[in-house]
Amino acid sequence: MKNGVMMQYFEWNLPNDGNLWKKLKDDAKHLHEIGITAVWIPPAYKADEQQDEGYATYDLFDLGEFDQQNTVRTKYGTKAELKQMIDELHKYQISVYLDAVMNHKAEGDYTERFMVKEVDPKERTKDISDEFEIQAWTGYLFRGRNNKYSDFKWHWYHFSGVGFDDAKKRSGVFKVMGENKNWSEGVDKENGNYDFLLCNDLDLNHPEVINELNRWGVWVSKELDLDGMRLDAIKHMDDKFISQFLKHVRADRGEDFYAVGEYWNGDIETLDNYLESVGSCVDLFDVPLHYNMYEASRKGKEYDMQNLIKNSLSVAHAELGVTFVDNHDSQLGSSLESEVEEWFKPSAYGLILLMKNGYPCIFYGDYYGVHGEESPHREIIDTLLQARHKYAYGDQVDYFDHVATVGFVRTGDKDHPGSGLALLISNGEDGNKMMNVGAARKGEVWYDLTGNIKDKVVIDEDGDGNFLVEGGKLSVWVKE
Ligand code: CA
Repeated sequence: MKNGVMMQYFEWNLPNDGNLWKKLKDDAKHLHEIGITAVWIPPAYKADEQQDEGYATYDLFDLGEFDQQNTVRTKYGTKAELKQMIDELHKYQISVYLDAVMNHKAEGDYTERFMVKEVDPKERTKDISDEFEIQAWTGYLFRGRNNKYSDFKWHWYHFSGVGFDDAKKRSGVFKVMGENKNWSEGVDKENGNYDFLLCNDLDLNHPEVINELNRWGVWVSKELDLDGMRLDAIKHMDDKFISQFLKHVRADRGEDFYAVGEYWNGDIETLDNYLESVGSCVDLFDVPLHYNMYEASRKGKEYDMQNLIKNSLSVAHAELGVTFVDNHDSQLGSSLESEVEEWFKPSAYGLILLMKNGYPCIFYGDYYGVHGEESPHREIIDTLLQARHKYAYGDQVDYFDHVATVGFVRTGDKDHPGSGLALLISNGEDGNKMMNVGAARKGEVWYDLTGNIKDKVVIDEDGDGNFLVEGGKLSVWVKE
């Protein structure tokens, strides 16, 4: 969709009240009105306990329907509420992307005994023990579901690693031994081989596992009428699995079934290589850009703003980057904590919502707030969303040419009369910059949509305007 915008509709500290699906349903009309075109919803299936965010997956086929793990609903609600919410979003042409956790499963129903080798957590290709028998929670019966939707039962041989030995009550990285058993090849090379992340690591090279996950992918997409998925933790998953999984689901749901993968790595080359290995079948979150913005916010005036979009995925691959400021993992207190500082967030959102490249994703925490406290950024995000839908069209002319004051011009296009804009961001003193918006616009009067600057700018006969910005802020200039 032209100038689409995704919203990640959860943060890490939501209350365990089973109300998120209802809340999102009630919010559908408002989301449509502010210009949200897709929503990324959290893992919607049964986790190890009711209060879990959904990433400690227990049963992918239990969408809040069965009495398992001492609860019918998930943290976010019941399956009926989930379906009603999705129907409502679809009424407003908002797409729904489900968070798919296929790398691991949390503890099963009973323990099994099998052979493992312990490996060095920092160098997973190195064994640090002889083969020994472990006792681990790898048996899954899903008694409460009673074979509905799938009669597949998980056993130790469906996993490639486990993180806990129940016999010795000891944590570690334990590699499952047996025929065809090894870490997957097509994973991130951090720690030697980053196949294992946590819990029980699915063996994505096992034909029964591949088959079951493929079946689930088609089932859940149909059952919930999904428009796409956000694939969790893909740097820990065999790349061949990902490409065949999407091929399988798209064969059923259509080629436009959307997918974005969480490959948490700030190195553009690593992301490039990954995209190549999966034939660019999936978008990736623009982690390098997130880290640029994080660094800019931390360093303040010491940061060279000429580097702000350098080495970002969205610059390298215009169509494959999902740009974001923060998410549930980067927010304060989370596992990958790297939250962009408050003062820079308006500028960061200005950048991702108005630039030509990338598919922007707004974080629930930045729009609605975290810990139930209201966010101070809602108003500016609303303003920037309006700017995106009304003015952010046409080519982009960059002015990343100064240590403190940078920006770009969007030239506008014929399909959107009056479109075109000039963005300026400053991390230092008040600044100004001559930017060219096209000679055809001579004599036009432009103003700053954010209200930060009250002065108007008149475009001269060459199409130049002397645009202003306050120190540490942004300005978004459009035709009056
Ligand atoms: Ca894995």
